[in-house]
Amino acid sequence: EFLNFPKVLVFSTGYMANLGILGSLLQRNTAVFVDKLSHASLIDGVKLNTARFKRYPHNKLAILEKHLMQSISRQKFIVTDGVFSMDGDMALLPSLIEIAQKFSSTLLVDDAHGIGVLGKNGIGICELFRCKPDILSGGFGKAFGCFGGFVASNEVIIENLIQFARPY
Ligand SMILES: *Cc1c(COP(=O)(O)O)cnc(C)c1O
Repeated sequence: EFLNFPKVLVFSTGYMANLGILGSLLQRNTAVFVDKLSHASLIDGVKLNTARFKRYPHNKLAILEKHLMQSISRQKFIVTDGVFSMDGDMALLPSLIEIAQKFSSTLLVDDAHGIGVLGKNGIGICELFRCKPDILSGGFGKAFGCFGGFVASNEVIIENLIQFARPY
């Protein structure tokens, strides 16, 4: 309810949440495009689950688009932090959503550093930009000061996680 997503699943840590999503949704031939400065848990999740991944230079969406255009994979994923843990800057969420739709890709945003910080109610990057990715992950170990992780998405994806995400 707080995040304004239909369903959410809680994990023991944010790291597990990211391994869980990527492990249950990526197939061997899924093409994944990851912002170069994405959190280590996203990088690990991608590396463990597909050989076909490319890192695009930080927030360089023209280059991301070029990669997507050249991709022949039927299933495509875009993966990024919301607020980047290394530089403290933000993903260009509205443009990323537009690009994801244009290339029929699934967009995963890890907003571990945005939740509790961005937006009037602290909902994070989605509140700030008034738009939502297909999948949002985050954790309770940063602004909320405790521990645990979550994945928010639609009912189909969350049910898939319950059935197939081993880190769950
Ligand atoms: C801290 C962090 C995580 C991992 O969360 P843990 O609960 O510590 O495992 C994942 N993604 C980002 C962007 C983070 O900053």
